[in-house]
Amino acid sequence: MKVLVINCGSSSLKYQLIDSVTEEMEAKGLCERIGIDGRLTHQTTGKDKYVVESPMPDHKAAMKLVMEALLDADHGVIGSTDEIGAIGHRVLHGGPTLTTPMLVDQHVKDVIRDCFDLGPLHNPANLMGIEACEDAMPGKPNVVVFDTTFGMAMEEKAYLYAIPYEYYEKYGVRRYGFHGTSHMFVSREAIKFGGLKPDAKVIVCHLGNGASISASIGGKCVDTSMGLTPLEGLIMGTRSGDVDPAVVQYICNKEHRDVNDVLNILNKKSGMLGMSGVSSDFRDVEAARQEGSHRSEVALEAFRYRVAKYIGAYTAAMNGVDAIAFTAGVGENDKNARKLICDYLGYLGVVIDDEANNVRGKNAVISAPESKVKVMLIPTNEELAIARETVALAQ
Ligand code: ADP
Repeated sequence: MKVLVINCGSSSLKYQLIDSVTEEMEAKGLCERIGIDGRLTHQTTGKDKYVVESPMPDHKAAMKLVMEALLDADHGVIGSTDEIGAIGHRVLHGGPTLTTPMLVDQHVKDVIRDCFDLGPLHNPANLMGIEACEDAMPGKPNVVVFDTTFGMAMEEKAYLYAIPYEYYEKYGVRRYGFHGTSHMFVSREAIKFGGLKPDAKVIVCHLGNGASISASIGGKCVDTSMGLTPLEGLIMGTRSGDVDPAVVQYICNKEHRDVNDVLNILNKKSGMLGMSGVSSDFRDVEAARQEGSHRSEVALEAFRYRVAKYIGAYTAAMNGVDAIAFTAGVGENDKNARKLICDYLGYLGVVIDDEANNVRGKNAVISAPESKVKVMLIPTNEELAIARETVALAQ
């Protein structure tokens, strides 16, 4: 079956067409500037890129152009929409009730709408994407895979905040965790690729512009670093990760700003960007460090230190760790970051093989044979994970 995987942002729509038998990507593309003007970049595997500049007032219009690109005689990949068996959607937040991937029906759409408050930037766009696909391909099964699904396996002691319980009961204030599809995919791949026992204890470090870390046993989440929103946890490109919440009030008072302003600063102007003053992109921060920027050096050190602290905490949470897997932009491409994080882990018996660590973007064991913990690089593939879940539900 061919599965169309859709990932909508507020002004963008990314897609991939995946053959579920070969698990090969047959085409991919991106609609940008939806609601502004509109550009579609499409690429069928093995063919040249194809760019269409065309007005996209909304996601429905974008979806129409995606279908035209997929069906295009020269640049497309299918002869008719009948070839698409199902559509899988990445959805940010399923709230406290939608805890597994689901076939879309009215109830599922209502809950996604009820969660607009919890995912204000993503959930409305995700719902628009679902409705655009229902319009473009009536009668086809649509499946939603939530970024929060993986974290919903956490126990109460891990997901509850130590605040009055009524806020959990009334408003669902708890830790949910995000990047769940990636953590689920990478933890399972790590067990498979690493030849580990099925109930292995795995820590996945998803280190990109958004960054999070998870602890899982046999692929089931024990803990993960993002919380009610993706702001909690590691230092990220522009997000602060963990801070004392009193910082918010203090800055509000000093700068005469309101809570929303300061939360915006913690989400968009903090992290590597805020600390270095250079960029949210790790490569720019590294280049500035090499030119002598002290703030950039500290930002990179703080990033790695935070990851190492979480690895320690999660090893304690699981009473041990069998494997650590690195993934996402930094985790897959930056051998120095992997090495320097692992330098903190000598007490766990972690030994990195520098030659094996000289690798990018493919499954690899990067620890030495004598290492007590297997350390791996496992490229994430959220689209493939969504396609797998979609096929399981659509059949
Ligand atoms: P997201 O999906 O959250 O936008 P990605 O997983 O694509 O993020 O990661 C993007 C980050 O990965 C960027 O900050 C970029 O600097 C970093 N990155 C990519 N390649 C390298 C590299 N070779 N060395 C260091 N960082 C890299």
